[in-house]
Amino acid sequence: MDQELARKAAQLNANSFVVDAHFDLPWDVANQRERGHKDVLAGQYLDRFREGGFNLIVAAIFIENFFLPEMGLRRALDQISYLAEEVEALSGSVRLCRRLEDIRQLETNGQFGLLLSLEGADPLQNDLQLLRIFYDLGVRALGLTWSRRNYAADGCAFSTAAEDRGNGLTAFGRSLVAKAEELGMLIDVSHVNEAGFWDVIEIARKPIVASHSNCRALADTPRNLKDTQIEALAERNGVMGINAISAFVGDGSQQRGVDDLLDHVDHVVKIAGIRHVGIGFDFCSGFKNYLTLDHALATYDVLPGHHHLKDFTAGLIERGYSEDDTRLILGGNFLRVYDEILR
Ligand SMILES: [Zn+2]
Repeated sequence: MDQELARKAAQLNANSFVVDAHFDLPWDVANQRERGHKDVLAGQYLDRFREGGFNLIVAAIFIENFFLPEMGLRRALDQISYLAEEVEALSGSVRLCRRLEDIRQLETNGQFGLLLSLEGADPLQNDLQLLRIFYDLGVRALGLTWSRRNYAADGCAFSTAAEDRGNGLTAFGRSLVAKAEELGMLIDVSHVNEAGFWDVIEIARKPIVASHSNCRALADTPRNLKDTQIEALAERNGVMGINAISAFVGDGSQQRGVDDLLDHVDHVVKIAGIRHVGIGFDFCSGFKNYLTLDHALATYDVLPGHHHLKDFTAGLIERGYSEDDTRLILGGNFLRVYDEILR
């Protein structure tokens, strides 16, 4: 990369509020802590987040299939507990954000922020009351499903034929959306199937997000959104976070890179305008040592990690995005939604 462009990109990252709307940090911290590693956040992540210029990362609690249903709640609570310990050990330099004010104060306090999210309502099973407990523990975003069925809805299974029968939200799922909005939690439709997506559009009163989904027009997987879905999300003033996993950027079997990732940004902007796209990189390559999924996804991240954000930003600059528009993509758009939802 041209040195002047690299400098410009790094500078823009450093003086913008940068958000990654999806990273499975609590899952990884718990996995590593249970294997005897200490200070995972401080030792392995924080410098990379800061090097990239990130200010806030949405830390997603993810539960693997084989823990469900009985262990879902325990696994979720353990992840929150481990992460809280790690944040506490960093004595004030990292903040687990609970209020809108916490996010607003990050820059002035020189703090790095985390916002907890639940990637699938599975730990609640069918108990609506538990949502409030997760809220009290700091969870501010609710992904209704991961790519499987739960009490709330059908997820968009990776292989549609196998699991996703095309059902939308259940009555419980509908109650969850209403309760989450009432509490001040963000609704995330990233792993919900298409029928569920339209149900959420119909019943949600506030903006919703697809924290880590790409464009189906460019990569035909059920994890990505069709153009009509992107339009509907934008009409609701929502935002989608662009995902860096190769299988969602393009055909997973081919070599994909940052340019392909940027094509998804361009496509959302073309369909919905500049105000509805952000970052939800969903970096997973680093987890492979601890991956206990039934099958490790045969895929890779098209950016090497948070510390390489400048490659993405440089690409935006090269494609002619203005400084203001780039700032919206880097975090301004997600901040606007947080402003509307969080208290
Ligand atoms: Zn995900």
